Amino acid sequence: MSRPIFVCGHKCPDTDSIAAAIAYAYLQNQIGNQAEPIRAGELNKETSFALHYFGLEAPRLVETLPAEDQAEKQKIILVDHNESKQCIDGIDNAQVIEVIDHHRLGDFETEGPISILFRPVGCVDTIIYGLYQCHHIEIPRQIAGIMLSAIISDTVLFRSPTTTEADKEAVRDLAKIAEVDYEKYGMEMLKAGADISDYTAEKLAQNDTKEFGTGNHVFTVGQISVMDTDPINKKKADIMSALEENRRKGGYAASFLMVTDILKEDTYLWYTGCEDSLLVRAFGKKPENYSVHLPGVMSRKKQVTPFLLKAFEN
Ligand code: MG
Ligand code: MG
Ligand code: MG
Repeated sequence: MSRPIFVCGHKCPDTDSIAAAIAYAYLQNQIGNQAEPIRAGELNKETSFALHYFGLEAPRLVETLPAEDQAEKQKIILVDHNESKQCIDGIDNAQVIEVIDHHRLGDFETEGPISILFRPVGCVDTIIYGLYQCHHIEIPRQIAGIMLSAIISDTVLFRSPTTTEADKEAVRDLAKIAEVDYEKYGMEMLKAGADISDYTAEKLAQNDTKEFGTGNHVFTVGQISVMDTDPINKKKADIMSALEENRRKGGYAASFLMVTDILKEDTYLWYTGCEDSLLVRAFGKKPENYSVHLPGVMSRKKQVTPFLLKAFEN
């Protein structure tokens, strides 16, 4: 009997990675391909809130893809990422057959021909919403709910500059199916995700962390969304120690943490491991106390990572 195809988002999964795995696996099953959503890490609070709200189970946690059958490798579809550093551990033991993403095309390489679908929209669930329409597949209420949660999460309720008309349209349509007031629900969900009151400094330092690389420089960028920066600022010394500890252990050139205030729509970018001059090159601003204030910045992929990649290259 053939095994189901896995559908998996990135490590340190966010709501989009979880929702996309669920929604795309469901669509695959509807069109006759046996598929199972999996996840490469722990759920964050926002995602737990959204799954619970819509009565959905979390995808199965798979920490490492096992090297069991090299003759017929496990087939996998990647959603919401493509860079090898962000893939589930053991990805080389699997055969990637498809990628659906809304990030930059990174170092992606495959053994054989595959399907890829990239669109520069705010959320991969917006692309998947379009695929449901293409296939004329009805979206169940719960799945509509988790998909709209993902779009609200990635676009920060349309505040992020990554937001497109397609994202807004998808949310409006999905909200009808899910029977929710998306603005009210969206604020509730973002609030649930921004509650860091019981997080340790170690956990905060690793929050939503992704690896990026250019030449010999591999660095990490994490992000925490808050609705008030006071509580996290009180823990800054401990978070910075943990960030440096992780950087040292991972052998990274630098580690960054975006502290994003979703109400003020700005970011304090904290960092360790690199010179202040790198931040000056990247953002044209002088940092203070290992932090640079970036007004209007909310998007890692559009407003932060490209400038860091460029600064490392120069
Ligand atoms: Mg993501
Ligand atoms: Mg995404
Ligand atoms: Mg994200």
